Amino acid sequence: MKKIWDVHGGIHPPENKSQSLSKAIVTAPIAPQLTLPLSQHIGAPAKAIVNIGDSVLKGQCIAEAVGPVSVPLHAPTSGTIVAIEQRTIPHASGLEDNCIVIESNGNDEWRERHPIADFRSLDKNMLIDIIRNAGISGMGGAGFPTSVKLDTRDDIAIDTLVLNATECEPYITADHSLMREYADDIATGVAILAKIIKPTKILFGIEDNKLDVVEGITAALAEHDFNTLTGLKTEAEVITFPTKYPSGGEKQLIQILTGKEVPSGGLPAELGIVCQNIGTAVAIKNAVCLDEPLISRITTVTGDAVNQPCNYEVLLGTPVEFLLAQSDYQANKSSRLIMGGPMMGFAVANTAVPIIKTTNCILAPTEQELPTPPPAQACIRCGMCAEACPASLLPQQLYWFAQGKELDKLEEHNIADCIECGACSYVCPSNIPLVQYYRASKVEIQQRKVDHQNAELAKERFEARQERLQRLEDEKIAARKARQAAAKLAAEQRGKEDERSVAVQAAVERVKAKKSQTETSTIPTATPVDSDDLVARAVAKRAAQQAEDAANPESKLIRAVESAQQRVTKSQARVVDAEASQDPNLAILKQAAEKAEAKLVATQQALNDFKEQNSAQE
Ligand code: SF4
Ligand code: SF4
Repeated sequence: MKKIWDVHGGIHPPENKSQSLSKAIVTAPIAPQLTLPLSQHIGAPAKAIVNIGDSVLKGQCIAEAVGPVSVPLHAPTSGTIVAIEQRTIPHASGLEDNCIVIESNGNDEWRERHPIADFRSLDKNMLIDIIRNAGISGMGGAGFPTSVKLDTRDDIAIDTLVLNATECEPYITADHSLMREYADDIATGVAILAKIIKPTKILFGIEDNKLDVVEGITAALAEHDFNTLTGLKTEAEVITFPTKYPSGGEKQLIQILTGKEVPSGGLPAELGIVCQNIGTAVAIKNAVCLDEPLISRITTVTGDAVNQPCNYEVLLGTPVEFLLAQSDYQANKSSRLIMGGPMMGFAVANTAVPIIKTTNCILAPTEQELPTPPPAQACIRCGMCAEACPASLLPQQLYWFAQGKELDKLEEHNIADCIECGACSYVCPSNIPLVQYYRASKVEIQQRKVDHQNAELAKERFEARQERLQRLEDEKIAARKARQAAAKLAAEQRGKEDERSVAVQAAVERVKAKKSQTETSTIPTATPVDSDDLVARAVAKRAAQQAEDAANPESKLIRAVESAQQRVTKSQARVVDAEASQDPNLAILKQAAEKAEAKLVATQQALNDFKEQNSAQE
């Protein structure tokens, strides 16, 4: 027999499970309207991809996953989208959130499906894709996207697959009835998980208050050749252990079955372990083998205020009141409605809230059955809460810190490890609702983290803006300086131009005077007038050229480069001629050619510098 380990603490509340186990699972009828919150899982809410008025088929995707930690949502039946709006969601906060509302057309018509005859033909990535696209998240209550949990890092070897069939909370029998009636589906889901994870050990953990299913589960698992599926020597074992609440906590179950403790803040994968709920295993089987996404689940409806307690296979989105009506709910007898069990569940804000992927139970107790807790008294420091805590925390101290809003102290005392099982509250003789304090504190801690992240982001944005403004200011100053320098240069050039104009004018006057002298002379001359004209024109041309250069310094540099290039060409031609004629001046000519080349390089460099400077200023 496999060795098992005990976990610290735990309690033994009345089980109250037999009431809902007297009947087989009942398929609940389709409600006229189904309300589907876009956030039914841990992670980013899905994004609606349908519009009001759209017709949808059963199994059609109506909201897509957003980001890596998210899952899509599918229509649980065929009908019309009649609303996409804020509605009260099934959450302890009683808040509203975005929901898609489908009005059923009563046909329950499936979209086209592509069942797979043999999942063994698919590889790990294909199987994970199917699970992701089927919108599967953990059905044991946490709602973490299953594909994310299965897509483990390559550097972490997973050797153990744990199946959580503990269902330790009183009243809830959804998993128990699933094991009674769907053992083969569970085993097929386990086989698919084994193909993905390739573990060497498969540990199927069941509390000893469900011994009636052990034989069926063992036989169903024996139908699969796990060695072939994993390519390893893989052993699958069904392990029973003494009933104690809350043995179904993931960390607690892992410790019971393996003796390994998941460190504070750590994940089972760090110990080479992946843990999955058996409801999730069935959802995986349906998705992979039947091409059916997660659109329904098994939910227990129980408590003395319902006349027909049982387990329902119910479509997601079904209003709680509709499901209760199937069990002949007596509202006048009910003290309150609880979604989940009496230990970890929360009061339902109104009966219109829907069944979602994580709803394992609707509990309608009478006052006699679950009396309203008496008012809390002062803590008497009895220490019973610490004895009961399965996470080995100090609930009494956490209570003090929570009351004082000492969030840092709460974090130092590992409040994150609290699984909110309520065992401490259950044993507290002062009736202090300890777990309520921890839940509220966790929300505050989470909010503080979000606020801190937002503040950091705002700071980063502010600093980036300041940096950008400073850069723009620097650029403005540089541009202003460049403009001033250019203006100064232009003014200087204009001054020189004026001087040149005066000189040119004087030259022209001189030429005119000379010409008039010549015209009065009797001695004819060859071309004195033409010569002076040429000089004047040359001077004027040069002045015009200089004026143009002042206005456009680049053209001057371009001409300088062209001129240098011509000199290089000429000097090189001279060297070639000299070599051919064995001219004794060859060495001098070569030196001249080298100088011309150097001059060309320098001129070219000046032009490049000027261009770069110009483009920087622009
Ligand atoms: S069980 Fe209650 S009374 Fe006792 S130490 Fe804990 S909080 Fe105080
Ligand atoms: S609710 Fe938290 S502190 Fe209380 S017993 Fe459970 S794990 Fe411990």
